[in-house]
Amino acid sequence: MENASKGRLIAISNRLPIVLVKTRSGWMVKPGSGGLVTALAPVLRNRGGIWIGWCGCSNGGEIDEILKEAHRHAGYSLHPVVLSEEDIRDYYYGFSNEVIWPLFHDLQTRCTFKPQYWYSYCNVNMKFADVAARYSREQDYLWVHDYHLMLLAHALREKGVRRKTAFFLHIPFPTTDIFMKLPWRAQVLNALLEYDLIGFQTQRDRRHFIRCLKLLGKDVRIRGRGGVVNVIIGDRQVRVGAFPISIDYKYFVERASSREVADAAWYLHEALPDRQVILGIDRLDYTKGIPERLEAFRNALRNFPALRERVTLVQVVVPSREEVVAYQVLKAEIERLVGEINGEFTRSGWVPIHYLYRSLDQTELLAYYRLAEIGLITPLKDGMNLVAKEYCACNLEENGVLILSEFAGAAAQLYRGAIMVNPYDVEGVSSALYAAFSMKHVERKARMKKLRRRVRNRDIFWWVNNFLMAFLSKDLHDFPEIEDYMPDIQELPDQVL
Ligand code: UDP
Repeated sequence: MENASKGRLIAISNRLPIVLVKTRSGWMVKPGSGGLVTALAPVLRNRGGIWIGWCGCSNGGEIDEILKEAHRHAGYSLHPVVLSEEDIRDYYYGFSNEVIWPLFHDLQTRCTFKPQYWYSYCNVNMKFADVAARYSREQDYLWVHDYHLMLLAHALREKGVRRKTAFFLHIPFPTTDIFMKLPWRAQVLNALLEYDLIGFQTQRDRRHFIRCLKLLGKDVRIRGRGGVVNVIIGDRQVRVGAFPISIDYKYFVERASSREVADAAWYLHEALPDRQVILGIDRLDYTKGIPERLEAFRNALRNFPALRERVTLVQVVVPSREEVVAYQVLKAEIERLVGEINGEFTRSGWVPIHYLYRSLDQTELLAYYRLAEIGLITPLKDGMNLVAKEYCACNLEENGVLILSEFAGAAAQLYRGAIMVNPYDVEGVSSALYAAFSMKHVERKARMKKLRRRVRNRDIFWWVNNFLMAFLSKDLHDFPEIEDYMPDIQELPDQVL
């Protein structure tokens, strides 16, 4: 990364990268994990950075002390944004998760467009801006993450605070037809234009965003070609780019190669002799297409008898947002389908679906990745889907087949090696399952090699570097050409159609 200035990097996200656990003797801090923290932490340490976010609880006072302790471990400082119970209800559960989350995943019928949610969202973005203004200096670089904080640069400007700001949207950006349903569409677009750089996961998301700008009557001009372009609107100039997020590939390969994971994979496989394992791993969320996937599996067992007693679907569902009614309904639907399918097809010595409703520890997770012959990843819509990339990284024997939804952001990079499916097409996914099951070793190997090369060359460190280059560099000449590009439906190869 180019060291363009002495400015520090300030990461801002809804949640701080820590978990606070209440014990008898008070609060305990556990460091956060995951690719984003792993990739950003060294940059924050090297540049003397800061992370700003909500700490996950609604009591301010004692948190500062706890975070000082966390600072000593992390090597960069953490500053909390204090949110009230009402903020959490209306900004977080309300606007973020009942408006933006379903709308941006094309599920507009799940949206609740309550005005009070919007006012709370504005108010909380202002609270984040207050903390950002207090702890940053003019030469700093503020990197704001995700859909909870789309108004932050605008809020800073309202307060008369000048900072260099970039925004990365981790979820998809919808088409114009869907985005235009948002009652606050103009406010959101105008606020986004206050950032100096806006990053999306894919070219498709970026294209949707630019089309929305044009539809709202903006005089939009695009300058430049490639992965990052300049969008000129009136007297504003904003960089807009696509930066597909990724995983720490090397870490996953090393951990998957460990004796511990190899042993765990061996034990799991021993329990499933002569079976191909089909693996689905998802957070409990209606965007993940779990019921549709179970229907496709049922269809495959009905229409391809060769699969019976020869495949086992291991479906892991990680509990999430369990207090929300829509998620309770989804859980009940999944459990009903699992019960029905197992009831119909189970034979002595064979249960078609192994259903796990819990979070796996990393050894178990990687063991499943390593042993599964088929990765079945069929979200209805997903910003990226890191499980798809982790599955490829951990498939050390290179004998796995990835079945991937065209509507996952990961499709833009992986569509050449994966079997692509439309997750709504029960018969299509069912046929893909049979094709994967029957695929010869040579073809499996060739495809998986291609997939793993793709993930290795575009890991999380590449993503951070690329984003920061676009943010810090003065000039966009020769910025990486577009290569992670999923064609529109009419341009797709026959294999997909
Ligand atoms: N994951 C986990 N515990 C589990 C199963 C999955 O921590 O029991 C992790 C998985 O390794 C991946 C993340 O959860 O990094 C899911 O990311 P993804 O982008 O696929 O979906 P998201 O949940 O962010 O929508």
